[in-house]
Amino acid sequence: MNIVNAGPKVSPNTYGMTTDFIGIYLTPKVYANNIANAFSDALADFTSIVGTVGAHELTHRITHIKDLPYNPNVPNDLMSVDDNPHGFTLLGNNELRLTLDEGLLLQQDCVKKHR
Ligand SMILES: [Zn+2]
Repeated sequence: MNIVNAGPKVSPNTYGMTTDFIGIYLTPKVYANNIANAFSDALADFTSIVGTVGAHELTHRITHIKDLPYNPNVPNDLMSVDDNPHGFTLLGNNELRLTLDEGLLLQQDCVKKHR
């Protein structure tokens, strides 16, 4: 994962990106400048938000879970943050989490690669 500044073609509301071309995943990016600009008044500090966005992008990269639709039964799901009406506030308050299933999927993939 690379922590970089977004260029002028990237929306200021984009905090990270994981590009895949038909299942070939590129190294995820986290956009430090966009996060610094958008969350200057946030409760959580800059590094926490960078870490949360990084966890979201690495979960895409490692598990191939896509951005999920918002589910009111799991209102703080890290992988549905893009569709969550309160996503910005939750990210700024450091209140997003992987669900148990997402965490297990991440763990299974790591265990497979490191035994
Ligand atoms: Zn995403």
